[in-house]
Amino acid sequence: MRKKIIAGNWKMNKTPAEAVQLAESLKGSVNSGKADVIFCVPAIDIIPVAKALEGTNIAVGGQNMYFEDSGAFTGEISAKMLLDAGAKYVIIGHSERRQFFAETDETVNKKVLKAIESGIIPIICVGESLTQREQGITVDLVRLQTKIALKDVSAADAANVVIAYEPIWAIGTGKTATSEQAQEVCKAIRDVVGEIYDKNVSEKIRVQYGGSVNAANAAELFAMPDIDGGLVGGASLKAEFEKIVNY
Ligand code: PEP
Repeated sequence: MRKKIIAGNWKMNKTPAEAVQLAESLKGSVNSGKADVIFCVPAIDIIPVAKALEGTNIAVGGQNMYFEDSGAFTGEISAKMLLDAGAKYVIIGHSERRQFFAETDETVNKKVLKAIESGIIPIICVGESLTQREQGITVDLVRLQTKIALKDVSAADAANVVIAYEPIWAIGTGKTATSEQAQEVCKAIRDVVGEIYDKNVSEKIRVQYGGSVNAANAAELFAMPDIDGGLVGGASLKAEFEKIVNY
């Protein structure tokens, strides 16, 4: 049985001092250990938040990284830097990075490979726009995004990665996919992982849903057979996150 994994994506919110305050205020109530819980915080907040979470089961994650080890890449952060700062996970290919920072399926794959090589677990985001959903190409698109993201990833490593299905039209909009819509695509992701590797990997890999998850819809979404938890944006910055984690 796969353990649920619920990650908060704090996006570009919270100064280091504010981040520590939020981590301190949430940590007691989201620390039962029943689900894996991760705070994906701005890079500058990783060190202080990791320190604030010492002694808990809550992990820290980054929100992006570069695929080179070091060098003349002004403004970028490497996987090793994230790891050394205390991050165990990193979000890769969030739709906001694809939309505003020219992230492509190919750069996602390079980052996934580097994260794995460096010992960081990638949370790979895939998902369709509203137009793509209306064109009826959601499943084809998400299958392709998943295949490219996992290119050259070994079966053993693939079993440990996390894939977040995040329909772009549901992110930050208050419009959640129905549990049936989310289940259909999360199952398609698990199926394509089974085709690339085998049943063993597809049964181990964890697939999250993300897109306006809140205290009212979390339980129904997370009860679906192929949804192993959530990637939560807006609601992860509030006390509501506690209700989502303890759904
Ligand atoms: C996200 O940022 O990954 C996300 C799902 O945001 P929200 O929960 O606010 O829709």
